[in-house]
Amino acid sequence: MKRYATPLLTMLLAAHCEKEHVHSHVPGAHVHGRAEIQIAVEKIDGIAYFIRFEAPAKDLLGFERDPVNDDERKKKTDLLSSLKEGSGLVSGKDCTTEFVASEEEKEGEHRSIVAQYRLSCSKPLSSIQIRFLTAFPSIKDAAVTIVGENGQSIKPLAPGQTTLELPE
Ligand SMILES: [Zn+2]
Repeated sequence: MKRYATPLLTMLLAAHCEKEHVHSHVPGAHVHGRAEIQIAVEKIDGIAYFIRFEAPAKDLLGFERDPVNDDERKKKTDLLSSLKEGSGLVSGKDCTTEFVASEEEKEGEHRSIVAQYRLSCSKPLSSIQIRFLTAFPSIKDAAVTIVGENGQSIKPLAPGQTTLELPE
């Protein structure tokens, strides 16, 4: 796992924490119906894009607690396996998508699901295919933070939108 702890990724995670600190009165509280997506671009051994997707469990599962019956346990197992089908959710031209990890974050009464991916590409992308919002229609909007060598930009992603233009 160490190979993923690159300087840019560390910066990305730090930026995320800082943002949470500044904007949330309840630390880390999420908004139902909204996902947070972060993309870090790194040009080492070719080009790689690290994608971190975070959404309320309410939107992905319908509940924010441990499963209490077989139906809910199945929902959760199905969700985790669909998150692992990385290339169906995030992809780029001439890139391979690798699922890195998923985890559940508890925030008071709330739970979020986080999934991380790595795209390894032969050349820089002008756009990236992101299908989290079509896969999980309960999510009505997403803020995408893109961190590259030239700084950080934030773009909205609307329902039905699957192509995200990337800065040069
Ligand atoms: Zn919640």
